[in-house]
Amino acid sequence: MALKLAYLLVGGCGGCDMAIVDLSEKLVDALEHLEIVFWAPTVADVKYKDLEAMPDQSIDLGLISGMVRNKENEHLVKVMRQKCKVIVAFGACASLGGIPGMANLHENRELFENAYVKCMSADNPDGVTPQPVSKEGDFELTLPAFLDKVRPIDEIIDVDYYVGGCPPHHDHVARIVEAIVTGNLPPKGSWLTMGKAVCDVCPRNPALKGEKREYVKEVKRMHEGIPDEETCLLQQGYLCLGPITQGDCGALCTKVNIRCAGCGGPIPPTWDFGLRAISAIGAILDNENVVDELLKKYPNLTKMLYRYSLPKALLKK
Ligand code: SF4
Ligand code: SF4
Ligand code: SF4
Repeated sequence: MALKLAYLLVGGCGGCDMAIVDLSEKLVDALEHLEIVFWAPTVADVKYKDLEAMPDQSIDLGLISGMVRNKENEHLVKVMRQKCKVIVAFGACASLGGIPGMANLHENRELFENAYVKCMSADNPDGVTPQPVSKEGDFELTLPAFLDKVRPIDEIIDVDYYVGGCPPHHDHVARIVEAIVTGNLPPKGSWLTMGKAVCDVCPRNPALKGEKREYVKEVKRMHEGIPDEETCLLQQGYLCLGPITQGDCGALCTKVNIRCAGCGGPIPPTWDFGLRAISAIGAILDNENVVDELLKKYPNLTKMLYRYSLPKALLKK
């Protein structure tokens, strides 16, 4: 019997939905085993009330992508938990807060001003920002209330499995679909991962070439020159986060000469990606001058270390 599947995107960009569509013909094969009962708001013409009307625990599997940013996100995530037997946090936003999680460094007032008033494309001389309730003639218009911060979904509901990636790589999505269909799943609360770091699958890795890893003697940002295409990026001074990131993407970025920024999520059992990154980078810098150079070149180090995971930081604000 086909597994009933529901997919919900909350506060994200839709890229994770695309990762499933990118399965291409493998998606056609997967649909023999899956019955999609809900996929909103991106793919199917269904309404949230349709989900609310489904019997509790009637859906075998619920995938949620995106983070929780407003009251509507919060409500829908709770409805998914009520209706689905198993919930997967699908992608960096749902698992860790994702790129939108960097908003937690700012007050909401500042975010609204930048998005609706100060941004270059805004034509808003009166400085109007969205309000939860407003009047339009005889009508009262409502918008979901904006919450105080970005939350990964496990701050709202119990989550069974986590998937990293912004978005998850489609080859990894294919492995996940197979694991789900065959019931070959790890214990509840686990990441669905191959269990390898990006370095483990990166052709530049000095260890895989029988070479010694050197200390880092200078720090470079990606715009400073073109990296050598064979040598480890970290050894060239580009702060590649491959050593501490789950490599389910197959080292996608380093294969096209870009450092890994950590979207795959931290290698278990670590949850605080940034703290692990500080420790890993600190251990490989050659001397204090390199540390000074790093701090000068990354004036907002937090946004580099926690690009995909700030809401999961143990230090919070
Ligand atoms: S994890 Fe990335 S691709 Fe997925 S919803 Fe968030 S921002 Fe978009
Ligand atoms: S640090 Fe980056 S470039 Fe170097 S081996 Fe690891 S993933 Fe590859
Ligand atoms: S190399 Fe790193 S940043 Fe790039 S897709 Fe893989 S995990 Fe994400």
